[in-house]
Amino acid sequence: MRNKDVANKFYELAELAELANENSFKVKAYLEAVRVIENLLIPIEDLAKENKLTDIKGVGKGIAEKIMQYLDKGTIDRLEELKKEIPESLLELSRVPGLGAKRIKTLYTQLGIKNIEDLKREAEKGNIRNLEGFGEKTEEKILEGLNALHDKKTDRVPIGIALPIAESIVSILEEHTPVNKILIAGSIRRMKETIGDIDILVTSNEPLDVMDFVASMPVVKEVIVKGDTKTSIITKENLQVDVRVVEPDSFGAAAQYFTGSKQHNVKLREIAIKKSFKLNEYGLFDLDSGRKVAGKTEEEIYDMLGLQWIPPEMREDSGEIEAAQNSQINKLIELSDIKGDFHLHSTYSDGANTIEEMTLKAQSMGYEYIVISDHAIGLSVAKGLTMERFKEQREEIDRLNAKLKPFKIFQGVELNILSNGEVDFPLEDLKFFDICLAGIHTGMEQSVEAITERISKAINNPYIKVIVHPTGRVMGSRDLYGVDIDQIFLKARSAHTVFEINCLMKSNNYKEINASFEKLDLNDVNARKAKEKFGLLLEIGTDAHSTESMSNMRYGVGVARRAWLTKSDVINAMNLEEFENFLSKPKSQ
Ligand SMILES: [Zn+2]
Ligand SMILES: [Zn+2]
Repeated sequence: MRNKDVANKFYELAELAELANENSFKVKAYLEAVRVIENLLIPIEDLAKENKLTDIKGVGKGIAEKIMQYLDKGTIDRLEELKKEIPESLLELSRVPGLGAKRIKTLYTQLGIKNIEDLKREAEKGNIRNLEGFGEKTEEKILEGLNALHDKKTDRVPIGIALPIAESIVSILEEHTPVNKILIAGSIRRMKETIGDIDILVTSNEPLDVMDFVASMPVVKEVIVKGDTKTSIITKENLQVDVRVVEPDSFGAAAQYFTGSKQHNVKLREIAIKKSFKLNEYGLFDLDSGRKVAGKTEEEIYDMLGLQWIPPEMREDSGEIEAAQNSQINKLIELSDIKGDFHLHSTYSDGANTIEEMTLKAQSMGYEYIVISDHAIGLSVAKGLTMERFKEQREEIDRLNAKLKPFKIFQGVELNILSNGEVDFPLEDLKFFDICLAGIHTGMEQSVEAITERISKAINNPYIKVIVHPTGRVMGSRDLYGVDIDQIFLKARSAHTVFEINCLMKSNNYKEINASFEKLDLNDVNARKAKEKFGLLLEIGTDAHSTESMSNMRYGVGVARRAWLTKSDVINAMNLEEFENFLSKPKSQ
């Protein structure tokens, strides 16, 4: 599938076209193309082969031609022309706050500024303030922006990218260096949805060897500092990684300190002081004697402070410390509690793997069942199925179920909620399915009121048990639509409708980040609200279109844990028998 490549090319084209002062409609059209191609669920090259590119909404003849050029020869003519016209280094100037295409163009034509160094030199000389449309204030701002840029070498990245990188570093350290204990701390350990940098703590009898190795790992692009106990590097993916060697009897204190969050730690230190202790990254110390009273494990630190141990995902100072004081921290849901995946696509619609392949993967993950929830006919762009095809699919599922017993495949469907709140399949046919899921995939430009009304209607549909990707959010990008979440939660409470924590993560490598399409929807805040304020049940679905993506369940569980959910809040933590029982009952019971 080359969708991401194509989208990236159009992004490049849009940026250069903007710098070249091209018609703003054109630039907008390129950006729109980026958006629709990113969101396209089927390979764009298939559409190209069938001459159906212009069927994609937002792709006109001109764009279609450019897509064909790219697929044929790996580049777009207009892009090559622009590259000759505009030095590529100009693009990096757009990273400076306050510099848009228009200003960059002026800087280039008037002062010959081609890159960050040129910009810095001219700004320091005071040459920029005299340009039309700039002035002294702007020049100052540019210098400030340049400094900020210098301090901040890396951006936040989605956890789906940061965690695998951190894990691969951990495994090479385990293999090649004399580490004893090793822990990924920081916001990754808290399963935050975006990660600023990676913090790794180790204990070792040979700290210098570890530091030498870290600085020379193949992933290193730049070494920021290399010391006796701390080394910071930037990876080729532009992520900062700090590796610290700590003393074994401070390991718990360091884990606690470097896991954060900042607000959580501030509160913990206040509690320590009230109890005449001092808490830092080395341990918990008695204020009077200076004697260390805890530090080897996190548990003993929390214990000395009169608290239950708090799972990292909860450490955001959002009530967890008070709960721990009152022994009210419940056992959170764990990945191993998950007994099935609810939201899976197969080759029947736009998935890459067969039902049998998805099933084998599910079995290898220890699941007892899955729901195959392919798209219905209304979503032709995702190869949605007709009733006839669903019947064929049913036969295949029956055959597999006979073979794989006691494992069970359920036949679900992912319905599209239409603009009027109806779904894209006849109401009388919905009882054919074991379970109906529904979500918005089209007509997202409606007002908040209209979308809320639309989802409410689906919530009240007696056959629809689950609303998938309910809020239309895409990480690192604008939400696809707006919705009154309290309103729909309230409706769902009386209709007994379940909401999804969708953890679709398409980008498995950093290069694709520009064109990534990451969802954690519901997010942690809304998932917690669904449970605490409205008493709703949730479902965690990977929305996997391939066996590989089924492993993303852990990110959904991360959201659930950040939302303080326990096993009993999540329907796919039910075992097979409980789940069949749940399916057999009408929604209202
Ligand atoms: Zn969907
Ligand atoms: Zn889906």
